[in-house]
Amino acid sequence: MKFATRSIHAGYDNSSHHQSVMPPIYQTSVFEFSEVGESRDFAYARTGTPTRAALEGCLASLENARHGLAFASGMAAIDAVLRATLKPGDEVIAVADLYGGAYRLLTRVMAPAGITVTFVDLSVTANLEAAISDKTRLVWLESPTNPLLNLVDIEALSAIARRHGAKVAVDSTFATPYLQNPLDLGADIVVHSATKYLGGHSDVLLGLVAVNDDQLHTDIKFIQNSAGAVPGPQDCFLTLRGIKTLHLRMERHCDNAERVAAFLQNHPKIEKVFFPGLPEHPGHEVARRQMRRFGGIVTIWLKDDTRAAASRVASRLQLFALAESLGGVESLVNHSYTMSHGGMPPEQKAQLGIREGGLRLSIGVEDIEDILADLAQALAD
Ligand SMILES: *Cc1c(COP(=O)(O)O)cnc(C)c1O
Repeated sequence: MKFATRSIHAGYDNSSHHQSVMPPIYQTSVFEFSEVGESRDFAYARTGTPTRAALEGCLASLENARHGLAFASGMAAIDAVLRATLKPGDEVIAVADLYGGAYRLLTRVMAPAGITVTFVDLSVTANLEAAISDKTRLVWLESPTNPLLNLVDIEALSAIARRHGAKVAVDSTFATPYLQNPLDLGADIVVHSATKYLGGHSDVLLGLVAVNDDQLHTDIKFIQNSAGAVPGPQDCFLTLRGIKTLHLRMERHCDNAERVAAFLQNHPKIEKVFFPGLPEHPGHEVARRQMRRFGGIVTIWLKDDTRAAASRVASRLQLFALAESLGGVESLVNHSYTMSHGGMPPEQKAQLGIREGGLRLSIGVEDIEDILADLAQALAD
């Protein structure tokens, strides 16, 4: 079946749930056995619940994967993948401009535990070939990245990693399964913060992993059950409900973001617009190959590269809320320099192009005329 149909139906068979059309929220920690030694699908809620199983099955279907796994947050999902694939002495090569939380986990949790963490600019594919060694067990990719929306060539990088016996994981949060399917491009593991577009309504924190390989699934599931960073049934339900409209929301996010990028590109107050749909964007050709559309995030550099200028625009915006996060139905604005990347050293921010006068816009699904009018008044003199 096609994506839109799977997003609504995959993962849930109502015949064992009293024909309930929506998956029930199994608000129980434990399931009764009928006899000693019985083997059954569900026993204890850390190991699994029917609501979580429906969500895991749905995500697997949307990523064309054999297995899905749900976690209490995107970071819990990333942590489980790292623990399942790396042991002390191993190396992970990660894309240089990765999500701040993943950067913190790698440098302050994994590295002290004896993992070698190497950051490489993987928007240049050849850089992986130069950096990879027989110690490299995992290549950690993110595409598009936050906040400048850099792309990496997942197919080419996966081929290099495979030749060197390393696994490839892709944080595909910004793309969602609707716009990009990393496993189809040769990656081994795909990770999502479902807190963003998959949930889609800024009301749930949840992480997801999908894999094809049975052994990888067993290894990550072992961490999921052993460490226990699992989502409750209510959050699984909310995420499933969000996913049912993912295809509709993403089309509108993409439509609106394309209009916003075009509008801002010609604006006298704007120095530069970052959006993969613009032909001059460095990742444009890769985006055309590996994504169905260009996503819903637009990042700008103001000509006045000061915190005061960014602050003025952010506080004049009426429709856009100044907030962390992204991917909800509502438009949000983020000052990456002080917010999402606040913990990063200034030299590193300078190197990555994260400026005081930069703003990341998560374009919502409101009426585009209202979104453009709000941006126009906030940028006016
Ligand atoms: C938000 C985010 C995460 C972390 O997810 P949480 O659900 O907040 O734990 C990881 N990667 C990316 C790209 C994100 O945007």
